[in-house]
Amino acid sequence: MGFKTRPEMLYSFTMKEFCSLTLFECQDWMAQNREKPFRASQIFDWIYAKGAQSFDAMTNLGKPLRQKLSEEFAFPVLKCIRTQHSEDGETIKFLWELQDLRKVESVLIMSGDRRTVCLSIQVGCPARCAFCASGKEGLKRNLSVAEVVEQALHIDRFLKEKGERVSHIVFMGMGEPMENYETLVSAIELLNSPDALNISQRRITVSTVGVVEGIRKLGLEQFKVNLVLSLHAPNQHIRKKIIPYSRKYPLEEILIAMDEYAHLTKRDITYEYTLLDGINDKQEHAEELAALLRGKQCTVNLIPYNPVDGLHLKRPEKDAIETFRSILVEAGINTTWRYTKGKDIAAACGQLALQK
Ligand code: SF4
Repeated sequence: MGFKTRPEMLYSFTMKEFCSLTLFECQDWMAQNREKPFRASQIFDWIYAKGAQSFDAMTNLGKPLRQKLSEEFAFPVLKCIRTQHSEDGETIKFLWELQDLRKVESVLIMSGDRRTVCLSIQVGCPARCAFCASGKEGLKRNLSVAEVVEQALHIDRFLKEKGERVSHIVFMGMGEPMENYETLVSAIELLNSPDALNISQRRITVSTVGVVEGIRKLGLEQFKVNLVLSLHAPNQHIRKKIIPYSRKYPLEEILIAMDEYAHLTKRDITYEYTLLDGINDKQEHAEELAALLRGKQCTVNLIPYNPVDGLHLKRPEKDAIETFRSILVEAGINTTWRYTKGKDIAAACGQLALQK
């Protein structure tokens, strides 16, 4: 899989998708169609502030304009076909049907004041991590900007009905964000734009398996988004077994790119480490990891493995997790142990799957 988006991986639909447009692009469309530019702001207000679900609902636009918009633009492009609520009520999984009838999922995690949405960026995933449901069948196709932005938009509308809003975004759902790079960048711009969802860049997190060119490019975008590396192993040998995709990228190169990102953006970086029984959870692995990250401004987020149907992997015992964690802490590495939410609805990390 090359770094550039392969054209055949983009779903082609004859209509343009409205939620791929910036306000400026919409104003441009208005000018080309002999409409007043302020109409663009009215439409953005209807969609992103008032939660309108069709052009027809935009009652302060004339009927001919509404008709023209409906003929030219697809909106919405996602249809919610199922929601699943975790028992504790803190996690909701949304299953979306796309226009070509493929399906993707997003997850809303409600923790304290935070309303975090975990977005998918591809149908399936090319990385095929050993512990992950999303990668089991490989990559089906890239999502478009609108398909990504609408996941957050519709969940924001759902929250607004309760007087709440999406506060944080994580690109940790289905797919490898750096392999749909142009879409990632455009989606971040729209999520962050005051004209659209207005979510601070500091509250947006991108997770990558370690696509070096993507990390470097993102560092030059002048964004202030957080970056997470799905590390999962203390050395390249184990990493190659867990993440087949990582064969393309030596670990040393990835870590250099992560350091450069931290330097350029002044953001701390996070290394995620899924603990797999008997594979990467031994004492010597913790010591090797501590040596690898010593002196770096970073956080290690330990994630005890969440079971996935059909995968014969196990979560380590609590004692092993605790020993692993204490070795990192003693080495002076800022370490968190992520309590994973939504396990009972298969919405926890690595559990999002392609739906038949
Ligand atoms: S863990 Fe992330 S990168 Fe790995 S297969 Fe799953 S979705 Fe892809």
